[in-house]
Amino acid sequence: MEDILKYLDLEGAVKLCQELVRIPSPVGKEKKVAVHLAEVLRKTGLDEVTLIEGEKDRPNVLARYRGTGGGHSLLFYGHIDSESPGVREEWTMDPYGGEIKDGKVYGRASKDMRAGISGFVKAAEAMIRRGVRPKGDLVLAFCVDEEVAGPNGIGYLVKNGHVKADAAIYGETYRLGDIMRADSGFLWLRITSIGVPAHCQLRTDEKKSVNAVEKMAKLILKLTALHLPFKPHPLFAGMYPGITAGTTIATRENQLINAVPDRCTATFDVRLLPGMDTDEVRAIIQRAARELESEDGEAKFTIQEISRRGPTETPEDHPIIQTIARNFEKVTGRKARVVGHEMTSDEYFLRNAGIMGVHFGPGNWAGHKPDEHIEIEQIHIVAKVYALCAHDYLFA
Ligand SMILES: [Zn+2]
Repeated sequence: MEDILKYLDLEGAVKLCQELVRIPSPVGKEKKVAVHLAEVLRKTGLDEVTLIEGEKDRPNVLARYRGTGGGHSLLFYGHIDSESPGVREEWTMDPYGGEIKDGKVYGRASKDMRAGISGFVKAAEAMIRRGVRPKGDLVLAFCVDEEVAGPNGIGYLVKNGHVKADAAIYGETYRLGDIMRADSGFLWLRITSIGVPAHCQLRTDEKKSVNAVEKMAKLILKLTALHLPFKPHPLFAGMYPGITAGTTIATRENQLINAVPDRCTATFDVRLLPGMDTDEVRAIIQRAARELESEDGEAKFTIQEISRRGPTETPEDHPIIQTIARNFEKVTGRKARVVGHEMTSDEYFLRNAGIMGVHFGPGNWAGHKPDEHIEIEQIHIVAKVYALCAHDYLFA
């Protein structure tokens, strides 16, 4: 069965990673790398390679190696958008050079996530070169819009029925050997406090105005003291839900210094553990605001939802988890660790579409930073694990 590894081009995986790093793909400008990847996949011998746009000029790459039928299908998922390099002087290496130094490939998006994508492509190539079609389909989706949590990447593909699979591997983590089985969620709210305006003046007992900022301050204290109900989750030991208040905060645009502010708008970021219901959390926050209104007598709030991503989780007994864990140990002699993901990701779209997946891939904390890099050894390891997993899962 390790047979598949004989067809795996490890050196090619590193070369492909370098090649992809050399094609910049900041958010909104992913087309060049998408077109290049589609060309690579065609040359690799995938059966169907298409570019699908959820937004004009931002194509997603979709490819398939067709199985003979009757088996489980597997999705290899990666995102192709990336952050800009930021301040050039903070880099000691060329952000788009794809250079190798001390056993690492350097450059923007090298870790996040050209390395994982290269591993996926070479794993697919190994299956094709081996020449025996598996039962299930291998699907590869390399998408835009992940970095900004937007809907035009994998969200668009699953919504429109382009991608279906029984399991998914999302090719990046923060530590090699981690299998991230669950994502936390978020809820973003914009709350406006409505007061009564007046010119600022000496205080008297006669009430002429209501300061919207003072009422917002009271609400912030009340909301941040809330204990949102949750069940402790084994993958998120020591972590609990929380509200970050006032991530942005403003009075009216042309507010005068000498006028009582009658509007104060603040945004709130709420983080949720798997098992929590986003609607219920929203209702708790709404109730707290109503409570403050009646206690205070003058406070008035409107609550608007900006965005949400509920927490998601792949069942702990899903076969893809064991498949990865077994093959990671086979390749490295080390045990994989099943963990939770403190943030959200495109797993939100996948899991909500019934495509149960986990993050597994090259990992470090160098993404989004100057001198982003990935260890060559990690590229080799994940390419091997991906090839073995595809083999096990698709032939089962
Ligand atoms: Zn990423």
